[in-house]
Amino acid sequence: MYDVVKVGPEELNGEIIRLDGDFAVVQVYEDTSGLKIGEAVVNTATPLSVELGPGLLSSIYDGIQRPLPVLMKKSGSFISRGISVPGLDKEKKWEFVATAKMGDRVSGGDIIGTVKEFHIEHRIMVSPNVSGTIKEIGSGAFTVEEPVCILEDGTPVTMMQRWPVRRGRPYRTKQDPKLLLVTGQRVFDSIFPVAKGGTAMIPGGFGTGKTVAEQTLAKWSDTQIVVYIGCGERGNEMTDVLSEFPELVDPRTNRPLIQRTILIANTSNMPVAAREASIYTGITMAEYYRDMGYDVALMADSTSRWGEALREVSGRLEEMPGEEGYPAYLATRLAAFYERAGRVVCLGSDGRVGSITVVGAVSPPGGDFSEPITQNTLRIAGTFWALDTSLAYRRHFPSVNWIKSYSLYLGSIQDWFVTSGLVDWKEMRDKTMYLLQKEVELQEIVQLVGPDALPESEKAILEVTRMIREDFLQQSAYHEIDSFCPLEKQYWMLKVILTFYDRTSEAMGRGVALNKILKLPLKAEIGRMKEHAEVERIKSIIDEINKSMATLAVER
Ligand code: ADP
Ligand code: MG
Repeated sequence: MYDVVKVGPEELNGEIIRLDGDFAVVQVYEDTSGLKIGEAVVNTATPLSVELGPGLLSSIYDGIQRPLPVLMKKSGSFISRGISVPGLDKEKKWEFVATAKMGDRVSGGDIIGTVKEFHIEHRIMVSPNVSGTIKEIGSGAFTVEEPVCILEDGTPVTMMQRWPVRRGRPYRTKQDPKLLLVTGQRVFDSIFPVAKGGTAMIPGGFGTGKTVAEQTLAKWSDTQIVVYIGCGERGNEMTDVLSEFPELVDPRTNRPLIQRTILIANTSNMPVAAREASIYTGITMAEYYRDMGYDVALMADSTSRWGEALREVSGRLEEMPGEEGYPAYLATRLAAFYERAGRVVCLGSDGRVGSITVVGAVSPPGGDFSEPITQNTLRIAGTFWALDTSLAYRRHFPSVNWIKSYSLYLGSIQDWFVTSGLVDWKEMRDKTMYLLQKEVELQEIVQLVGPDALPESEKAILEVTRMIREDFLQQSAYHEIDSFCPLEKQYWMLKVILTFYDRTSEAMGRGVALNKILKLPLKAEIGRMKEHAEVERIKSIIDEINKSMATLAVER
């Protein structure tokens, strides 16, 4: 099962997906038209694998790790069939710096040297199932296939490893996800956070902003490595990424974002079967960098298209269909994929820690969340960012519905906020959510009897929740300054709004009319917070609020 085979004279790539006695069923990853009875099928006797080593970063691959630029050189803009190209460049020499020495005992995961891959230190590791004592090792320029080290039993160690994509790479132990994945997006970081090594899902109907969200996360997440899988979506969305990323600069390292990114493109016009493989290809590369001790973020847009590929393959096998025609093992396959996320102690004797955070977009037909992919992912994902068609329609972006969404990491990352100096984040977040929930209740009343029926104190809540929605939750992915909002700025923005609420409540308690408070220039000041790059300016609004509300009381 799962051996890769070459089919027919064009040697089309395929994989054995069922064995029945002497018969093998082969899923070919390319167009099969023109194949004839009697043509040869050659078993390569290896499972679908990827090549791991220096040269992955900034690459763009198809679903089975064929570099698209190389494919284009060979066959032009349209991929012709049966082309085999290696995932890594075999001619390029890399400057290997040995860190282990002769006589060292090494085993799977131990780092024996480093290579500079752009600004990233690419750590060359002993393959997971290899161990021994080093007989020879030396720094110098090597290709990925030349041995950089030889063990006493004669085993050569190269910079390149091969790994079967359907099997997770081993690690020592899994740890609790306790650190925040900082994304620079307020509704994510401050309200529905995901932890490093956690999982998040973004379900939403057409045009709700899934792709923009995935790309925003790929741009600004505070991980060293990003793997972006464009899975069954429009090709021009990948073009956007490709044209944008080389020009965008990582705010933390000042390096082009493309240098920390691996792109996997299996767009809607590419063969459907390779789409099924693409998410495994992507996560295996993510695991490889995790094993070096890095934080990796993996974006998959969209897992629904992956599920549809699975359904198509299963249908051809005439398997018993489950819900909506998806195979009965949909849930297990989804879980097995998300299970490869996590924060782990890596193999190797130094006890380094790495993580993979998985963020999967889900595109339920008609935006109906009761369909199988959404429902099954819901059981697995730790954070649920429900995108809302009516919010998107009102141009409230990111269109994350604050009532339906949730994060299961609130408790586990609270300490992280505290040690980061944002001590009362959890209280502020709870208060914000309380006000937003209260708003829903109040709006129902307003719809029944009109706004005048509300007492002043509740009108004040509606004012404040409008601020939370418009001045905090809304964040344009295209604004020069606001597209990335540092965590400290997020914290102070929320603090300003909540301080405004507290001072307003107090002033009203002293008998000041809400009208009078709303006439202060504070509202406009708060509305402009997002545009300020300096946190100090936002902090100063708190003084202004305190001062101007105090004078109100005197004037009365
Ligand atoms: P989907 O992938 O869910 O079909 P897209 O991600 O392509 O939807 O988003 C559709 C449109 O919504 C985008 O072209 C953009 O105009 C708008 N949009 C989505 N998110 C944002 C955002 N954060 N800021 C500004 N505009 C957004
Ligand atoms: Mg999209």
